[in-house]
Amino acid sequence: SNIPKIVILGAGYGGVLTALRLQKQLNYNEADVTLVNKHDYHYITTHLHMPAAGTDNPENARVSISKLIDEFKIDFVKSTVVQIRPQDKKVILEDGTLSYDYLVIGLGGEPETFGIPGLLEHAMNIRSINSVRLIREHIEYQFARFKREPHRTDYLTFVIGGAGFTGIEFVGELADRIPELCKEFDVDPNLVKIYNVEAGPSALPGFDPELVEYAMNVLTKKGVTFKIGTAIKSCSQDGVVVQKGEDPQEEIRSQTVIWSGGVRGNRLIEEAGFETMRGRVKVDDQLRVPGSDHVYVVGDNSLMFNPEGRPYPPTAQIAMQQGVVCAHNLVASIRNQPLKNFAFSNKGTVASLGKGEAVGIAFGKKYKGRVAAWLKKLIDIRYLFIIGGLPLVFRKGKFL
Ligand code: FAD
Ligand code: NAD
Repeated sequence: SNIPKIVILGAGYGGVLTALRLQKQLNYNEADVTLVNKHDYHYITTHLHMPAAGTDNPENARVSISKLIDEFKIDFVKSTVVQIRPQDKKVILEDGTLSYDYLVIGLGGEPETFGIPGLLEHAMNIRSINSVRLIREHIEYQFARFKREPHRTDYLTFVIGGAGFTGIEFVGELADRIPELCKEFDVDPNLVKIYNVEAGPSALPGFDPELVEYAMNVLTKKGVTFKIGTAIKSCSQDGVVVQKGEDPQEEIRSQTVIWSGGVRGNRLIEEAGFETMRGRVKVDDQLRVPGSDHVYVVGDNSLMFNPEGRPYPPTAQIAMQQGVVCAHNLVASIRNQPLKNFAFSNKGTVASLGKGEAVGIAFGKKYKGRVAAWLKKLIDIRYLFIIGGLPLVFRKGKFL
């Protein structure tokens, strides 16, 4: 048939919003839309720090894709993309091939390890349902191991590399979880160490200094030890080697290293031959790959700059807004109508610091403590509402 084929790769924030908007805006038989995702569920990355630490169930951080999209309007294919072939307008899956007229790449980023030796092999990442299940089980297992080998305090030492928002949100949850684990396994809480190692001059580098100070105080009181201005230099099965400035290197013996030192774009994009910076494509104002008008990139794989020329950080917030504009532009292309430019509308940033504590800036105002924690819940609930309406809010929303 000559109905245009739209293929969306990845059902993350960008891909899901693109699909939902297309399903609403396209008329019957105006286009064939296919959504491809590795799993048959969408994961809510903004919740992942909780199941990772074990303070919440992984089920609350995922939603079945069939519950989100209308499968009469969108074909869902559960498969892993192994190659993108822009020359042939084809996508190679682990178990088949798809051809497209329009492609949307929303595969999400990958951990950036900056080539630091051993991180790829020995550190864990907070990235997906599967990766956080592993972290959660691993942490519990260290407590069980310690009871059999009480001289091995490295079983009770937890190292988190990077104090960006991911690292900070995770140590907040982990600090909340430790007292429960100590009780369950009869372990003296004084033996447990949580190190958050950050190369920059403070935690959350670049964020509002007053809120950073508040966050570090809250977390320090909960038992987190910050090692600021200190870089992870290598990682092995015994722990990490860190260095503060020009000081001598120091070893932290630990059986649990969690790397949250940054994200890069998906390797499939470089491999497709698109020009990238750290794996991300500098898209045009309409979210297309320069020189490839029919290929759109949304979310962590796209690189866009603010009016001052600084790159926007890769967030769920920007990915969702891009999904909306991407869907609009796809429909406009099919109808030969003018495309829209993307303009980011920053609603703010709120980061959790564990139960009942958070910091954030929203609508130009600073928030901390209980009010900020509340705001964080509102943002989560708003997201559930956007993708799944009230039924999803009631199934997955956490109100307490
Ligand atoms: P993702 O949401 O990463 O989704 C990519 C999808 O593609 C996934 O479903 C994946 O399974 C699928 N996929 C990947 N590879 C393949 C393949 N080869 N084949 C098929 N499918 C594939 N941002 C905020 O704005 N606010 C927050 O509070 C916030 N909190 C966060 C907390 C944590 C712990 C983390 C890790 C991130 C957080 N972020 C937050 C950042 C945010 O999660 C990302 O920017 C966002 O998820 C990017 O969306 P995306 O659409 O690019 O891809
Ligand atoms: P990030 O890039 O924001 O932070 C990584 C941190 O690791 C940086 O502070 C960096 O200085 C540090 N680092 C890098 N190399 C290091 C080394 N060798 N040793 C020690 N520290 C090192 O990554 P992230 O925290 O995973 O965040 C990714 C994106 O997701 C960001 O855009 C962030 O805004 C977003 N996010 C948002 C929220 C929220 O809004 N609540 C939560 C999580 C993530």
